[in-house]
Amino acid sequence: MTHYPNTQLYIDGVWRNASGDRNLPVRNPATGEVIGHVAYASIADLDDALAAAERGFAAWRRVSAFERYKIMRRAAQLLRERVDLVARCMTMEQGKPLAEARMEVLSGADTIDWFAEEGRRAYGRVIPARAEGVYQLVVKEPVGPVAAFTPWNFPVNQIVRKLSAALAAGCSIIVKAPEETPASPAELIRVFADAGVLPGSVNLVYGDPAEISSYLIPHPVIRKISFTGSTVVGKQLAAIAGQHMKRMTMELGGHAPVIIFDDADATAAAKAMVASKFRNAGQVCISPTRFLVQEGIYEQFVEQFVAHAKLLKVGNGLDSGVTMGSLANPRRSAAMEANLADAERHHAKLRSGGRRLGEPGNFYEPTVITESPIEARVMNEEPFGPLAVINPFGSFDDAVKEANRLPFGLAAYAWTRSARTAQGIAAAVETGMISINHVGLGMPETPFGGVKDSGYGSEGGTEALEAYLNPKFISQAGL
Ligand code: NAD
Repeated sequence: MTHYPNTQLYIDGVWRNASGDRNLPVRNPATGEVIGHVAYASIADLDDALAAAERGFAAWRRVSAFERYKIMRRAAQLLRERVDLVARCMTMEQGKPLAEARMEVLSGADTIDWFAEEGRRAYGRVIPARAEGVYQLVVKEPVGPVAAFTPWNFPVNQIVRKLSAALAAGCSIIVKAPEETPASPAELIRVFADAGVLPGSVNLVYGDPAEISSYLIPHPVIRKISFTGSTVVGKQLAAIAGQHMKRMTMELGGHAPVIIFDDADATAAAKAMVASKFRNAGQVCISPTRFLVQEGIYEQFVEQFVAHAKLLKVGNGLDSGVTMGSLANPRRSAAMEANLADAERHHAKLRSGGRRLGEPGNFYEPTVITESPIEARVMNEEPFGPLAVINPFGSFDDAVKEANRLPFGLAAYAWTRSARTAQGIAAAVETGMISINHVGLGMPETPFGGVKDSGYGSEGGTEALEAYLNPKFISQAGL
């Protein structure tokens, strides 16, 4: 059996158990087995993390941007060197195929590099003054200690964007990482520790998510919140943060429309969209989920999509050749069953898949349903699993109306050979990101975030660093 480590808290530069040695079991979702334990922080542990983050901020903000850059580049290099170890932990705790886990870890290293470099360019500016001898300067200061809350679907990727931006800006951070997938996040934190970040600048806790968020967010030490997860929870946390006047970044759920016009390359679209839809078994906030296909190309697209979906090999992510792993937890397989039963009650057609694949693992077939009425649950809540729903549409306006019908606006996709249609659809869809004729979202250097109920703020691009900086205006006259 492959080794899987127990996970400790990391507070003030020290790896330690939770007080009273409290912990939770961690299960492998592909086997149902308990493979390890994760420390479960008490309020006393959180107080230690807060005190450490306060001291850590005071020290880390004084480290020059150039020195921070060197430490972060070292962390990125260590992460690359440890890719096999980190990816294996991730597959064992989360279920995704090893190849996907490796890709996530390596792209995490790219994210650290990018923010390390960007931190050196956190420029202010000089504004011409109205009076002679007056200097008007804008300098960028780190916002302060950050509390970050991240989910289980991308255990490394969801943290690395918040952590790298915070550190590059000169902030300290307390990461509340996912209890169900704790070991790969801890290995991410370890590369920063080993690369030489100052004690207290990075802290890692696990425990009861609601207890931790309701304690950290209002706490006077914390100056900024960043959350990735469901819209329901995001709204609760945003309400607490609003009461206490804390800066926020909210990366929440979506239900990404994929609009495929008659003039698209159906073959290329089907192939790329199957790979994207079933990546991480569909547990992706930007997963393509509501397929809207123009009538002239509809049957052809459905056939090709189903054919590609049937080629996927579902199994334990550690086994070679597996292209879709287990779902990350039993809640997701239960949700797939409930979604499908509801869609069938609404007379949607099941075109492929639709069954659990064995127990005790959380395996579910790549599933395709078509002609679902908009009243069905799957047309309104993100499935967050291996379930694609495909419906036909008539005109451009019909597609836009359906794309914009929901309160979400995170990602969208479109396929067309017409430049005019591409431009039109990019302008008309209410979304934070749209990718046309390929899958091109989520690079460190490009903005990543949503509109409407999908949240606010960006976790990529130069915008992501701004979220961790306050502009300070200085007007100075000679004596
Ligand atoms: P959930 O909504 O309870 O949890 C989602 C995440 O938020 C988890 O990581 C959880 O630990 C955290 N969380 C929950 N309550 C919290 C609180 N009060 N304070 C701080 N963190 C809290 O349920 P779930 O079953 O884990 O996931 C269900 C849904 O969440 C999915 O269907 C999906 O819509 C959404 N989700 C989105 C993302 C994303 O990348 N945007 C990731 C994971 C889950």
